[in-house]
Amino acid sequence: MGRKFVVGGNWKMNGNKSQICDIVSFLKTGPLNPETEVIVGVPAIFLDYVRVNLPENIAIAAQNCYKVAKGAFTGEISPDMIKDVGVNWVILGHSERRQIFGETDELIAEKIAHALESGLKVIACIGETLQEREAGKTEEVVFRQTQAIACKIKDWTNVVVAYEPVWAIGTGKTASPQQAQEVHRALRQWFCDHVNASVGESIRIQYGGSVTAANCKELAAQPDIDGFLVGGASLKPEFVNIINAKQ
Ligand code: PGA
Repeated sequence: MGRKFVVGGNWKMNGNKSQICDIVSFLKTGPLNPETEVIVGVPAIFLDYVRVNLPENIAIAAQNCYKVAKGAFTGEISPDMIKDVGVNWVILGHSERRQIFGETDELIAEKIAHALESGLKVIACIGETLQEREAGKTEEVVFRQTQAIACKIKDWTNVVVAYEPVWAIGTGKTASPQQAQEVHRALRQWFCDHVNASVGESIRIQYGGSVTAANCKELAAQPDIDGFLVGGASLKPEFVNIINAKQ
């Protein structure tokens, strides 16, 4: 069974209602390849607004959530709240959460486990820093981050992994198709060896980090790249070209 190409947009802390109208408008105009699954990652405060305005064929993700259902956790949102506004996905483990907000491998794994138990689908982000890559530690780091998740979850059906080298995020320095393919292949092999062959074969691995309309086709042509997680370019009409990278 083939892996369905999946493209996520990660708006990060950007946008207001007026800009959202523009984004919804270019997504509605498309045309979007119906063979590609599309998910937009929206700031929590706009989840409901975007769900009401965006056609149902485009899924929506929160950009974070907490590891329990409810309670005294000021400022946090739970998977149940996300689902309550008709949103089915959450992005967890983004490098900005790890680096700026100090989220550990373990906390991220706990959040992923709770989100899945609550019925959300998860885009789980991993990736090495420039320093780690230059020290030859890319695989060690992404395997460690993945292992932490594997310790807490058994069923990977509702997980998409986003490999996002930190040095490529928002820098304009995309990993070359060969660099990305190498890590994606190694990750798939890791799943075969440490989870099982069927997960290794079926898990979708997105690439993220300075993906644009100009570089997406060559990346999408790599055998182990199953989609993208797109930051800056997901706010612009070129996101439509990225969604259609496989055409
Ligand atoms: P970028 O961000 O496309 O702006 O590099 C990607 C991401 O952080 O998901």
